[in-house]
Amino acid sequence: MRPFVYTASATRVIFGPGVIERLPEEMDRLGFKRILVVAAPSAVSQLRSTILGLEDRVVGVFDRPVPHVPISVAEEARQLAQTLGADSCLAIGGGSSIGLGKAIALTSGLPLAAVPTTYAGSEMTSVYGITDGGLKHTGRDPRVQPRTVLYDPMLTVSLSPALSASSGMNSIAHCVEALYAQDGNPVVSLIAEEGIRAFASALPRVVTSPDDENARTLALYGAWLAGSALGSTTMALHHKVCHVLGGSFNLPHALMHSIVLPHATKYNRDAAPEAMTRIARALDCGDAPTGLYMLAERLRLPLSLASIGMPESGLEAAARQITSAPYPNPAALTFSDVFALLRAAFVGEAPTLDA
Ligand code: NAD
Repeated sequence: MRPFVYTASATRVIFGPGVIERLPEEMDRLGFKRILVVAAPSAVSQLRSTILGLEDRVVGVFDRPVPHVPISVAEEARQLAQTLGADSCLAIGGGSSIGLGKAIALTSGLPLAAVPTTYAGSEMTSVYGITDGGLKHTGRDPRVQPRTVLYDPMLTVSLSPALSASSGMNSIAHCVEALYAQDGNPVVSLIAEEGIRAFASALPRVVTSPDDENARTLALYGAWLAGSALGSTTMALHHKVCHVLGGSFNLPHALMHSIVLPHATKYNRDAAPEAMTRIARALDCGDAPTGLYMLAERLRLPLSLASIGMPESGLEAAARQITSAPYPNPAALTFSDVFALLRAAFVGEAPTLDA
C-alpha cells in the first residue's frame, strides 16, 4: 500500500427522505440569523413553504443562478448579501446554485449551508469556479465548503429522467478519477467504488420510475459519496477535458461528462489497473470503459460530442489546450493520444478492448 494523507471532511451531513423539514433546526444550530437564500427558480417554487418556514431568518432570495457562475452574477449576489446585511448563505439547487453560494462565501466570508437537488456533488467540496472573460477560474478555499448539507431524496424526484441520468454520470466521473488520483487513499477508494455501485444500481430505476423513493435515495447516496471523493482528491484528464470543452464550446456540463467518461477511462485503462478493477466490480462488468459506455447507453444518454453541439473543427485546438501544461494523470499525456480520445468521443464509438 502506498503511503497516504487523509483529511476527513468537516461538513455535517443530514441525509434521508423528508430531512428538509429539519432545515429550521439546522439553521438554528449553525446560528444563521440573517440568511440570503440562493436557489434555482425550480427550487424556490418547490420549497416556498420551507423557505417561508424559516420566517424572519431569511433576509432575501436570489433566484437567478447561472451555470459556471459568471462574475457579473456573482457580484450582483455578493452586493445583495451586503446590502441586506446577510450573516449567512443557504444554497438550494444544483451545482450552479451551490457554485453561486460559494462565490458569495469566497469574498464575504459568510458561512454557507447547502441543499443539493441534483447529483453534481459540489456541496461536499471546497472547490469554487467563477467565469470571467470567457474563462472559468477554479480554486480551493476552505471558506466555500458548506458547513452543513441536507440531502433529501424527495427534492430530486422532480429532476427529469434525462437530467438525472446525465447528472448521475457526471457524479460517477468524480468517483472514477478519485480512484486513480495522485492524492487518493484507501478510504477515498472505498467511497468512490461504493458511489459507482450505488449509481449503477439506482440510475436505471430512476430513469424508468422517476418517483421511486428507494432509487432516488440510493442515487443521492451515490452523489454524496461522489462529492466526498471529489472533495478529497485532485481530478485528472477526464475533468481537464471537460473543463476545456465546457469553457471553449459551452457544451451542456453533465452530458459532456457522460460522453467523455468512457473514453477518458479507456485512456487510463492500462496505467491504472487497480482503479479499473474497482470500477468494473462496481459496474458488475468485465471492462471499466465498456461498462461506463454501456451504462450511458442503457440510460438512453447521447453518446457523441457531435450530437451535443461540439464542432469537429474545435477538436485539434482542444487537444492542444488539454496537453499544453503538465498535470498528474496515470497515463502520459500526449497531443496525438488526447486527440484520438476526443475524436472517439466526438463520434461516440464504443471503447473496445483491442482499440
Ligand atoms: P445546474 O445546477 O445548472 O442544474 C441543472 C438544471 O436542473 C437547472 O436548470 C436547474 O434549475 C434544474 N434543477 C436542479 N434541481 C432540480 C430538481 N430537483 N428538479 C427539477 N429541476 C432541477 O447543473 P448541475 O449539473 O447540478 O451542476 C453543474 C455545475 O456545477 C457546473 O457549473 C459545474 O462546474 C459545477 N460543479 C462544481 C463542483 C465543485 O466542486 N465546485 C462539483 C460539481 C459540479
